[in-house]
Amino acid sequence: MEAVAREVFRAYHYLEIRTPLLEETQLFARGVGQDTDIVTKEMYTFEDRDGSSLTLRPEATASVIRAYIEHRLDQRPGVQKLYYMGPMFRRERPQKGRYRQFYQIGAEAIGSESALIDAEVIEMVVEILRGVGLQDFALLLNSVGCPDCRPRYVAALREALKDVSGGMCEDCRRRSVTNPLRVLDCKVEADQPIIEALPSILDYLCEKCGPHFAAVQQYLRDREIRFEIRPRLVRGLDYYMRTTFEVVHGALGAQNSVLGGGRYDGLAESLGSKIHSPGIGFSIGEDRLVMSVEADEDATGLDLFIAPLGEAAQRHAGILARDLRREGLSVELAAEARLKRAMELANKLGARHTLILGGDEIAAGSYALKDMRSGEQHSVTREELHTRLTASVPK
Ligand SMILES: [Zn+2]
Ligand SMILES: [Zn+2]
Repeated sequence: MEAVAREVFRAYHYLEIRTPLLEETQLFARGVGQDTDIVTKEMYTFEDRDGSSLTLRPEATASVIRAYIEHRLDQRPGVQKLYYMGPMFRRERPQKGRYRQFYQIGAEAIGSESALIDAEVIEMVVEILRGVGLQDFALLLNSVGCPDCRPRYVAALREALKDVSGGMCEDCRRRSVTNPLRVLDCKVEADQPIIEALPSILDYLCEKCGPHFAAVQQYLRDREIRFEIRPRLVRGLDYYMRTTFEVVHGALGAQNSVLGGGRYDGLAESLGSKIHSPGIGFSIGEDRLVMSVEADEDATGLDLFIAPLGEAAQRHAGILARDLRREGLSVELAAEARLKRAMELANKLGARHTLILGGDEIAAGSYALKDMRSGEQHSVTREELHTRLTASVPK
C-alpha cells in the first residue's frame, strides 16, 4: 500500500517529508485543539529531563505545518505538496483496526485556497484507494464554513441544542456549551435522531464558502468522482474549515472511517506563521485500510495461477509466467505436480484466473483460461491472454 501511495504521490508531484516522532506538547495542544479527544485523553505525554513537556505525535498535520513555518517553505515556488507515512500514537482503547501505535499515510498541499487543489487532493485519495484495490467505498463531503460564517451557524446550533441537549449523552451535554460543532461528531446511537434534526451548516455558508463548495463539487463531477454530501460531517479537529471529507467502508463496522481530510486555512497562523498559508490534507488510517481491502472480495493481488501438467508443460509455463510478469501481471506458478492439490492452492490464494497447461494446449497454441469468480472457461491465444487477464482487474 505504501508503494502504491508513493507512486501516486510522485504522479501528483508530492515530495516526502519526515517529521520527528516527538514534538513539544504545546504544538499539538495548539495545532490539534484543546477540547479534542486526542489532546484531552489520548496523547502520550511525558516530561523530559529539563522539565519540558514532550508528546509522541498523535497525527502529522501540526508537525508538517510547524516544519513548513520553521524552514520557510513558503519561500519556495508554487503550492507546497508534501506527503508522509509512518507511525502515530494515541492512547485509545485497542479494538479492531485501532492500535495505540498505528500507521498513517497522508499528504498536505499548502499555499492555495483554490477549490482546484481540493478536487485534486480528493482525486489523489481516490487514486490511492483504487490502486490498493479498495472497492465499495463511499466518499463523504461537506463544507464546515469559515470564521466569517461558522460563528452564525454555531450560534444557531447552540440555540437549537438548548432545548434538546438534556436528553443527549454526557459528552454532548458538555459540548453543547463548550464546542457545539463537536456534538455533530457524536457516535452514540441514541443521539443520532436528535443530531439529524439540528440545523445544517450548508444553510449558513457565506458568499465565499458557498461558491467554493459548489466549485469543489463541480470539479469532482468533472472527474467522475462520486461523492455524498453529509452536512453533519465535521472533523474532530478544530482547525478544519471549508472542504471536509471522509471515506468510509462497510468492513469496519460503526467506526468505519478509512480516512479523513479537509482544508485548514487558519492552522499555520494559529501555529505562529506571519504569512497566510491555507492548506488542505488528509490522512489514511493504514491499519484500517489493510482491513478494508482484505475484506473486499477479489482484492487479492494474484492475477493468474498456472498449473502445468508434465515436464514439457512446466518448461513452457515457466517462460509464459516470466513474460506475463514482465507485462506487469502477478503470476503464481504451481510447484505442486498433482493437479487437484494445485487447484486447491489456487483457490486458497484467491487467484483471479487459473490456467491448466498440458501438451494438447501447447501443441494447439491456445490456453484454457478459467475465471475463478464466474467459473467460466475460455480458450484464448497467447495474444489474447494479457487482455483477458487485465480486463477483469478491479481498478
Ligand atoms: Zn464562510
Ligand atoms: Zn452524544
